[in-house]
This record gives sequence, structure tokens and C-alpha cells, in this order.
Amino acid sequence: MSKVFASRADVEDKVVSFTRLSEHAYAYTAQGDPNTGVIVGDDAVMLVDTQATPLMANDVIARIRAITDTPIRYVVLTHYHAVRVLGAAAYGAGHIIASEDTRDLIVERGEQDYRSEYERFPRLFRGSESIPGLTWPNVTFKEEMTIRLGELEVRLSQPGRGHTKGDTVAWLPRERVLFSGDLVEHGATPYTGDAYLSDWPRTLDNIARLQPAALVPGRGDALTSPERIAEAFDGTRSFVTGMFESVRRGKAAGKDLRQVYQEAHAELQPRFGHWVIFDHCLPFDVARAYDEASGIEHPRIWTAERDAEMWRTIAGTD
Ligand SMILES: [Zn+2]
Repeated sequence: MSKVFASRADVEDKVVSFTRLSEHAYAYTAQGDPNTGVIVGDDAVMLVDTQATPLMANDVIARIRAITDTPIRYVVLTHYHAVRVLGAAAYGAGHIIASEDTRDLIVERGEQDYRSEYERFPRLFRGSESIPGLTWPNVTFKEEMTIRLGELEVRLSQPGRGHTKGDTVAWLPRERVLFSGDLVEHGATPYTGDAYLSDWPRTLDNIARLQPAALVPGRGDALTSPERIAEAFDGTRSFVTGMFESVRRGKAAGKDLRQVYQEAHAELQPRFGHWVIFDHCLPFDVARAYDEASGIEHPRIWTAERDAEMWRTIAGTD
């Protein structure tokens, strides 16, 4: 039987944790599935990423309602990926906030991204029939913006290009809690199919400078010790740089995408193969790295058709 996307065989539901990180910050995590951050302010609740579908978001809402009656008024999108943003409708928030760059990406490729992500990884879209359409930000910003939830200050900023060109992090300066989106992962393989690999390490430097006391990565457990936070930053950095380096070397030696993928897999598997979604991400990661190494500055749009073609080329048949 020919192999379809690695993650189509990944069907088991994960165990959810809802963890308090500071006076106002909580993390909704699920063993490496996409995380949602929750900030409970004095007069409003803010979500950082939404889950993939309104049905899945309803579980986040139930956890919030177990701790507070404060209305949910803000949803922040750390970037445009469907698996993070398409649950937004469930929250009924008046303000859906994203960087201008993220909005541009939704305009340019939101629809294709949704189809492609759904085909790659159907388990992550439980209750997809509850998705009313694309999620459109109605508040956008460039570089940075501060929101006050009563006395509580939340700073949103774009620390640079990395996982996408629109990446946004949320930061609680007084409690030193950072919500990084997919710029930082822990125990989960970074997806770099839409990334700017040359920029990503510098962007990591920019956010590491905040010296967070707690970190909610894009995927993986919420972290509250300096050692584990450093582990998340270092791990993400060494994957991103190691993968890109391996691909650049192969490309410079004139190898084709399939050979480059096989070498990158052999090189990275011993160090990172135990991270969740390693086999799912690596073909897309290598494909983007190969483009960037070839001088293609902006990530090409993934469509369901391009996904299938790439998969045939580099992951191949059994
Ligand atoms: Zn993402």
C-alpha cells in the first residue's frame, strides 16, 4: 500500500491539560497538539490561538468557565495556520487581533491552507463541520500593540519572521509569561513549511531576551522552569538551523529534493525523531528549506495538490 501523509495514521486523541502559570495566565495543552493560551484579565478574557474548530474550542470555553465568569472579549492569532485560528467563532469575542502580515497571508492563502492542513491531518479538525469559514481579524497592527484588560497589560509584538512572516507573540510583562505560538516548540517538531529559515534564529534571540518565567510554546507542555524554557528555545533553534544546514549542503552539492530529504532524515532522526509529528513535518520542512536555499524568498502556497505531489516526490511510496 502506498504511504499517505504520515499524520493520516495519527488518529488517537490526546490528553488535555489546563494549567495555571501565574496570577492571570493559563495554558490549554494537549501532548503536542496545538496549544491555546488563556489570559484572564480584570474585565475581559483573552485567548491566544483558538483550536482548529469551534467544537474543539468549546472544550477550552468549558475550562475557562470552570474558573471565571469574566466575558471573553479578545482572540489573538499568533499566525494564520488553520489549525490555530478556525475555532475562533466559538468564543464570540468582539476583537479578533492579528498582525497586518498575518491578515495578508489569510487573504492570500487562507483558503488553500485550510484545505491543505485538513487533508494532511484530519484528526486535528474534530468537528470540522462547525467551522463557519475563514477567521478574519477585525483589529490589526504592525510591529506592536498593547491591550489593557483592566489593570493587566498584554503586549503583542512581531519579533521577526520565523515560522511565518506574520508571527506574533503575547507577553505579560509583570508576570513574565510568554505565549510564543509556533516560533518555539517543546518536544514537538517545528513545522517550517511556511517559514523564513534564515531569519528564525535571530527572531528566537529577540524573544529569548525577554527572559520569560513561564512559556506557552506552540506545541508541547507549558513550561515554568528556566531549564525547560531554555530547552525549548535551544531545541527549536538546533532543529531549525540543523535542518536548514543539512538541506543547504545537499543543494550546494547538486542533489535533488528526494536525496536531500533522505539525508536530512538520516541526520536529524537520531536527535529529533522522538519529537511528535517528526515524520509529518520533515518532508514539508525540507521542501521549504530547499526552496529557500534555492533563493526563493517567500514560501510558496501549499495546496492539497502540491502537498500530494511533494509527498510523492520525497516521502515516496513504500
Ligand atoms: Zn503554525
